[in-house]
Order: sequence, then C-alpha cells, then structure tokens
Amino acid sequence: MNAPLPIEVTQAAPGKVYDAVAQASNEVAGRLAQRLAAETKGEVLFSPADRGRYATDASIYQVLPVGVFVPRDAGDVKLALDICRDVKVPIVPRGGGTSQCGQTVGAGLVIDHSKYVRKIVTFDAKARTAVVEPGMVLDHLNAALKRLGLWFPVDVSTAAQATLGGMAGNNSCGSRSIAYGNMVHNVIGVQAWTADGQLHDFANYNDSTGKTRELARRAKDIASLVAADIEKRWPKVLRRVGGYNLDIFDNQNERPYTRDGSVNLAHLLVGSEGTLALTKSLTLQLAELPRAKVLGVVNFPAFYKAMDTAQHIVKLGDGTLTAVELVDRTMIDLSLKNPAFAPVIRTAVIGRPDAVLLVEFSGPDKSVLLRKLTDLVNLMGDLGLPDSVVCMTEEAQQKALWEVRKAGLNIMMSLKGDGKPVSFIEDCAVPLESLAEYTDALTQVFRRHGTRGTWYAHASVGTLHVRPILDMRTDGALKMRTIAEEASELVRQYKGAYSGEHGDGICRGEWVAWQFGPKIGEAFGAIKDLFDPANLLCPQRIVNPPRMDDTALMRFPPSYKVIPLHPVLDWSAWDVQNDPATEEITPPSTGGDPAQGFAKAVEMCNNNGHCRKFDAGTMCPSYRVTRDEKHSTRGRANTLRLALSGQLGSSESGLGEGALEAVKDAMDLCVSCKGCKRDCPTGVDMAKMKVEFLHQYKARHGYTALDRLVARLPDYARRASPFAALLNLRNQVPMLAKIAQRLLGISARRSLPAWREHHFFNRPPVTATRDEALSASRPVVLFVDTFNGYFESPNALAALKVLQAAGYTVHVADKLLPDGKHLCCGRTYLATGQVEEARAKASEVVSSLLPFVERGIDIVGLEPSCLLTMRDEMLAMGLGTSAQMLARHAFLLEEFLAKEAKDGRLEALKAKLRPLDKRVMVHGHCHQKAFAAVNPIVEVLKLIPGVQPEVIESSCCGMAGSFGYEAGHYDVSMQMAELSLLPAIRKFPGAIVVADGTSCRHQIQDGARREAVHAAVLLAAQL
Ligand SMILES: Cc1cc2nc3c(=O)[nH]c(=O)nc-3n(C[C@H](O)[C@H](O)[C@H](O)COP(=O)(O)OP(=O)(O)OC[C@H]3O[C@@H](n4cnc5c(N)ncnc54)[C@H](O)[C@@H]3O)c2cc1C
Ligand code: SF4
Ligand code: SF4
Repeated sequence: MNAPLPIEVTQAAPGKVYDAVAQASNEVAGRLAQRLAAETKGEVLFSPADRGRYATDASIYQVLPVGVFVPRDAGDVKLALDICRDVKVPIVPRGGGTSQCGQTVGAGLVIDHSKYVRKIVTFDAKARTAVVEPGMVLDHLNAALKRLGLWFPVDVSTAAQATLGGMAGNNSCGSRSIAYGNMVHNVIGVQAWTADGQLHDFANYNDSTGKTRELARRAKDIASLVAADIEKRWPKVLRRVGGYNLDIFDNQNERPYTRDGSVNLAHLLVGSEGTLALTKSLTLQLAELPRAKVLGVVNFPAFYKAMDTAQHIVKLGDGTLTAVELVDRTMIDLSLKNPAFAPVIRTAVIGRPDAVLLVEFSGPDKSVLLRKLTDLVNLMGDLGLPDSVVCMTEEAQQKALWEVRKAGLNIMMSLKGDGKPVSFIEDCAVPLESLAEYTDALTQVFRRHGTRGTWYAHASVGTLHVRPILDMRTDGALKMRTIAEEASELVRQYKGAYSGEHGDGICRGEWVAWQFGPKIGEAFGAIKDLFDPANLLCPQRIVNPPRMDDTALMRFPPSYKVIPLHPVLDWSAWDVQNDPATEEITPPSTGGDPAQGFAKAVEMCNNNGHCRKFDAGTMCPSYRVTRDEKHSTRGRANTLRLALSGQLGSSESGLGEGALEAVKDAMDLCVSCKGCKRDCPTGVDMAKMKVEFLHQYKARHGYTALDRLVARLPDYARRASPFAALLNLRNQVPMLAKIAQRLLGISARRSLPAWREHHFFNRPPVTATRDEALSASRPVVLFVDTFNGYFESPNALAALKVLQAAGYTVHVADKLLPDGKHLCCGRTYLATGQVEEARAKASEVVSSLLPFVERGIDIVGLEPSCLLTMRDEMLAMGLGTSAQMLARHAFLLEEFLAKEAKDGRLEALKAKLRPLDKRVMVHGHCHQKAFAAVNPIVEVLKLIPGVQPEVIESSCCGMAGSFGYEAGHYDVSMQMAELSLLPAIRKFPGAIVVADGTSCRHQIQDGARREAVHAAVLLAAQL
C-alpha cells in the first residue's frame, strides 16, 4: 500500500461542483450574464437553445452549461475569468468542440475561443516559430505558412476545425506523429492565466521568474515526491496523453519533450484539458514542409500479419518514414461500394487483401524516398509477402488515396439505427511488438459482447482506432464499462497507454488513477490544487472525475424520449435499427421512432464538427460567414434534436412554442444548399429537414405574404407576364423598391428577375408532340421550369437548339391533361414549407412524365434546383415507384450530354461546335455539387474546341432561391458570395462565367456586375 502524499488536497468532492452549478439559481446565472454583457465586448449566450448547443461535443456526453460566452479578444477572456471567480461559476474553455471524450462538456460558463480569438500574434521565420491565439484553426495557420514552405506538423484529422488551443488542451497527435511527435513535442511556450487571474509565461524552467517560478518549483517538488512511481508506472510509449505531463522533469516518453533536454513548463499545460489555466497564446515550433512524398501500399492476406509487420516497417525510417496507416477489410469494402472512391481504392489493392498499410516516406530528396520504397518492397519479400506493395510516387494519386482513408471512417459513421460506433477505447496505444496480439484479443472482447469494430489509423505508433457498436439508449453504458475494463486489462498486459490520442475528458477521467496508480493520482490532485485551488477551471476533469458510464451525463440516456410527431415528408428510411454484430439494418419504419424517422435522421449528427470547415466543398455557408455554432449544420441538428426530445419545452400538440422559435432561429440562415447532404460524414440533410420544420412551424403560425408570393410564382407567372413593363418598374423606381421592402420584406438593394411579355411558354418553338417523341428513334423530353421559361427564355431555347443539333427529337414536357399551365416541380412551395402543394405539383410531374420514362426516355432540365427535386424531395413525398422511375431518368442537360458523349452519341454535335479562344469559368450550383453534377458541365464544355473550363472553388453563391432577396438576409447573402465566388470572378474580367442556377447568375450580376450564362447558352452560341 502506498503511503499518502504529504500534500494537502483541497479539491471539492466529486459531484459537489456540478451539483452546485446545476442548482445555481437563475439569480447567479442572471448576474453572470448581466456582468458579462456590461463589462465585456463579447457575445453572451444564455438562452436554453444556446446552452443546449454547447452541452455536447464529439463525445457521447451532454451536460448543460450555465451559459456561453464568445469573447471578442483576449481581454474579454480575462474579464470573464475574473467575473466567474467573483460569482463562483466554473469555466469550460472550448475551441472547435471536437473532443471525443467530453472534455468541453461541463456545467459552468463555456468560453468559445473559436470565433474571434484566433490571430497569429507573431511569427519568426528564422527561428521557425509562431505565436498564435488559442482559437486559431490548424488548417488556417498552415494555409498562412504554406507560401513560406513551413507548417505546423501535428496533422490531426480534424485539421479543418480543430483549434490550436484545443489541440494543446488535448495534447493532440496527427497521422504523422512518428516523425513529428505530439502537441507536447511541438509547443514551446504557453502564455496563460491561472484561476487567480495571474498571467504566466510558461516556457523554459530555468528562465522562469516570479510567481511562475514559484508555481514551477512547487510542481517540481510534487513530481519529485512521486519520481519512483513515475519511473515505474508511466507508459513508455510516444502516444500517452492521459493525466498531467508530470514527467516533464524526468522524461518517460519515447521521444524527448525538448531538443536540448531542458524542462519546459509549457509542457505541463499541454494535455491538461483546460483544468490548470486558460491559454492566452501558444508558441509553436514549426517544421519545413516536405518537398517530396512517396507512398507504398502494402497488401496483407490477414489482418494479424499486417499488425505484426508494422514493427518491422517502422525500422525503415531513418527520419523519412512519416506515416504507417491501417485500412482494414471493412473499410476497403465500403470504399469499393462508393462510386467516387472505388476507382481510387482499386489502384491500391492487389486481389482481396484483409488489410492494407499505407506507408509514407517524405523529405527533401525524392530519389532518397524512392530508395526507401524499394527497401519496403524488399522487406515485404523477406517477410514472405513478395509482390504485395503498390508504389505510388505521384502526389495526386497519393492524395486521392488519403482522401479515401479519411472518408472510410465517415462511411462507417453513417450507420443508421440507435446502435452507433462509440468512441471510448479508440486510441489505446500499445508497443508495436504487441499490436497484433492486442488487436486480436480486443476483437475477441467485442465478439463476446455481441458487437464488433472496424480498425483503422495509426499503426506506426501502435494507436489503432476502433469503435464497437453500442446502443446507449439501452444497454450501451453497461457494455461500455465492461468492454472498457477488459480493454484496460489488455492495455496493462501489453504495457500500453489507455489514453493515446483523444485525452481523458469524462470518458477516461476515471482511468487516470488506474493507469498511473494512487500516488501519481494524488500528485495530479496536488498539481490541480496548486494551479486552481478554487476549482474554477473544468472541475472534475482529470482529477476527481465522474464515472464514465454515468448516464445522467449522456446525450442519449435510457430516459431519452422523442415527442410524437407526424412528419409531412417520408423519413421511414431512418426509422430502423441495426444489428451491432452484422450491421444489418431492419426494414424502414421499424425503428420505433415516435417522430416516424425524422428524429432518427436528426440524431445522425454525431457532433464531429466537420461542418465547421472552411476548405473545399459547400458545407456550411452560413457558418462560414458567421462562425456561429448556431448557424452550423451541427448547431441546427442539435437544436432540432433538443426540440424533438422535449429538451426545449413541449406542448400538448407536440413541440413547444419555445422549441419552435429556437429551431426557426437556428434555421434562419440555412440556405438549403444541400452542402451538408454531400459533405457531412453522416449525410445530415438539413435542407430537407428545413422543409419538414417549416411545414410544422407554418402549420401553427401561418404563411407570410412573402411566402405566398414566392411559392405561387409558378401559378401567377402566366397572368403576370403580360404586365411585364409595369412590374419591371420596381427595378427602375427606387421608391417602388422601398415600398416592396416595407410591405413584403424584399430587399430594396436587390434587382428582381425581369419579367418578359413574350416568353418560352407563350411563344413556344416548334417541337415534337408527345406521340412523336414516344415513337422517335432518339427522343428526349426537355423540362422547362418557371425561371427559364418565363424569365430567361433564351436559356430554354438554347438547350432546345443544342439537343436538336445533336440529333434528338425533343418534346417539351407538358401536362398529361393540358390546362394552359406549364409543368412545375413544386420547388417554390417546398422552399416555404408548403409540402402539400408541392406534392400536388410533383404528382402532376410524375404522372405526366411517366409514359416517357417507362419507355426509357430521359427527362432533361436546366435549373438544378428544379430538375434535381425529381431525384431528391419527390422521393420523400410518398409518390411511389413512379417517382423512383422518374428519378432514374431525370438529368440536367450537361449530365445527359456527358452520358451521351461517353456512349459515342454526340459525334454530330461535336462536329458542329466552333472553337472558342476564351477563359471559361464554371460556378456549380449547390445542388449540382450535392449530386456530383458539376463535372459533367466541365466535360461537356470541353467538347467546344479550345475550351478548358476552370471550376471556381466556391461554397454557396448566397442567393439561394429567395433567400438573398429578403431584406433581412441581404448582408449575409452578399458575405457568402464574397467568400470566394465574387473575388474569383473579378480576378478575370474577360472570362466567360458559366452558372446554371438562375439565383447564382443573379447574384453574380448583382455582386460583380458580370453576366453569367447557362452552359446551354455557351454551347448554342458555338453552333
Ligand atoms: C472525426 C474526428 C477525428 C479526430 N481525429 C483526431 C486526430 O487525428 N488526432 C487527435 O489528436 N485528435 C483527434 N480528434 C479529437 C479532436 O479533434 C482533437 O483533440 C482536437 O485537437 C480538438 O480541438 P478543438 O479545437 O475541437 O478542441 P476542443 O474540443 O474545443 O477542446 C479541447 C480541450 O482543450 C481545452 N481548451 C480549449 N481552448 C482552451 C484554452 N483557450 N485554454 C485552455 N484550455 C482550452 C478544452 O477545455 C478541452 O479540454 C478527432 C475528433 C473527431 C471527431
Ligand atoms: S452535421 Fe454532420 S458534419 Fe456537422 S457535426 Fe453533425 S455529423 Fe458532423
Ligand atoms: S443546407 Fe447548406 S446552409 Fe443549410 S445546414 Fe446544410 S450546408 Fe448549411
């Protein structure tokens, strides 16, 4: 038995702090909010929905904070710290909130650093160091460093949203940690406030002075009291991130913490998960960007062999080995099922491997790396696996494969049903010699508990990710503990680290003492007491943690209930359960969701925070411009989840009024771009959820005049167009625009699409009749929507010209029972939540077009949001198999032409197209991006001799149907356009800009004063 440490520990008993905070009266919360609002410049968010949105991170936990504070600068953080100390409310600092163990979940005041506190403070090119504020996102820092040939090399998978403050808090580690180490190896200074408000420069021990020196000296004393235990019990692996880094005084890590063997006090704060001090800035050691990379993909017939071989592969390094990453059979299979990834993964696999290891070498000299690849090939031959390595020396090929490796996890996470892959033992680190035995034994543990896990990630450092599938609403918590206990035994047996990447949080806090023993556990308590005697910073984390399986702290406890709701759209595909051992899904509508699948679709958001990204892709334009959690897809999904589960209040008829208003508020800036449908790892389709929500909301609150004006446009356009000259006065007389703004909310700063007296529908060109098309040898049906029909008729005429030039017999879609009106997809009704009306329109479209699609005749459209409704929302309206058949034959013009060109049927058109010697830039409509329909535009435009279209890397244009026309949304709409689209267009004043979306063209006209054209117009012009 260890003797107790001679240190007095005054930490509050477990449970006390949270009880105290949870019971904090409204009076305390009110006082806190009031003082924050009065004394700081920051945003003070204390509404139930705001607190709910910050009650979760990427873990399974949920704890409601007292409130949320978004500081505008470091000064605000310091003021908030002082106020919290005064009113005795703890602080939970937060970056991107992507922690997997519940580090950012806690009662108290959450301080979100990610919105404003994110500057590069100083940069020293010579010393290769940068000082950054904690809210800076890793990718943003690296983007700034790229032109200097430098980077910060702790390349976490969440690089697009993880903040440096959060990374330091968790002692994060990247895929290339074998070469660069963890955060602790790359942070060389931390400026931080301790709970008493004192600002310290934590850096080299010997240079410390004053109060910092005093803290350092006492920390050293504490460490020396347990020096023998540190020596004996500390896991001797690179990837140990649990507990406090008390070994800074006597390094136990595989890799020294400092280059010169000195003691750096900053390293004590790294990995302390916000419990010791509030970070003001971090000094980072930067690295040279590798000039060359090569990749060897080693194919293994058995998973065990792959694991056993990792220990030999890492010896090839000589400093050039930067990654050895595992992709197992399940992930290979999932990738092969995905049309986008299949061709890439096929280039990497030989036959049907059970696992592959991605072995990367990088450095300044490619010839050296190529020799390393040869060494790898030879090694595999020596180990009995000749011809098992696929060598990739081209960067593009390597990049594509790394993308598949990342996406594989995403596909795995999209499992429907209440059983989900749960992260709680997903980063135990074991020495490489034991990796094969460890993974084998843990797989047996899963099997015994009726579940399984897919293995992936960092074989180089013995940290493999694996998430067993558990249902936290039933027996998940119980199984989690048992599996954790059995896994921990294995970790001990193989002398590993229980927490090897993702930190402690709630999930692993109670394993800290288990890992390090009671004496070191007490020493950790003493460290906490030394830095934060009042227990103000993240209480009950690392020291005195709660139980990992305390269901009161969970997002989906067994008591979780969904409010019964009759959705208007069909969500039955989500209303399923799964078998954790086989991952088989039950049939639709069998999942027991009282909201008939809507709630389960919402719950697909696992809070990973991927939607807080700024890089390629569309998701999520409203977050990109506001940087507000509320306006991210995650924020919306959480608000909906809280509402649907009654956590924002309920009423007899379902959702409470407060809940409805909270969701409305969160949905306000959602432009329904469907970026999330494509980019979210679990396919959260917020645009569709918004339609459902609007329907529910408007059913209770009614429609506005603007809703009606927008929705009914297809119906009144015919009667309005004769008055084009009169109606267009609104664009010419500012007073009329102002009146329209006052009466309807349409921004006076916008021009509206111009009406035409003569348009496609009242001056129809000669086209084939239904019967002629049905009996033609090369028939096609052109679907002319409201916008291209009434407002931009030349586009419809251009499409007709192109199709006819290509030799098609073109019929213009019309009603089966003509009533003088055009066929309409119902999009405008959907946009305002009028689903019944949209369904009536859709039903007409389906029945009118069915005779064609039954004969295999394709339907071709021009406006992405209209045509793609046939492939999306129309399938959720209960229109049966006819709608599905239509969906299979509905194509955008370019999709159709690209398909036909591939089949060799466009030779006639190609021969007619005249060359064009101009730069052509393409802006894809968001729905085109969501349906992978941008590439066909490029392919088809390339048919014009001399044209090499460039796709503009842009998110949503910001107009998004009627969104950008609304006075209340004008500014945000323009900010969205200015993110990348408009600057890219302005860069090339002479370029032709192609944009298929009518709103996109309008936004480009308003924002850049440039006329963008539909691809059909460009093609027709060259005939
Ligand atoms: C899909 C997925 C993949 C992941 N991959 C990796 C990976 O490859 N490697 C890895 O290491 N992790 C990974 N993680 C975990 C997580 O993304 C990282 O730990 C990340 O660095 C956290 O950054 P953040 O900004 O989200 O921090 P947060 O989660 O917001 O905070 C992390 C910790 O830092 C503390 N903190 C934040 N700001 C401050 C401050 N100013 N002062 C004091 N403390 C502060 C918080 O209190 C908390 O304890 C992954 C997570 C997900 C969901
Ligand atoms: S909406 Fe999607 S991307 Fe965003 S946090 Fe949820 S699962 Fe992740
Ligand atoms: S539809 Fe677009 S704006 Fe709305 S949540 Fe998804 S990505 Fe964001």
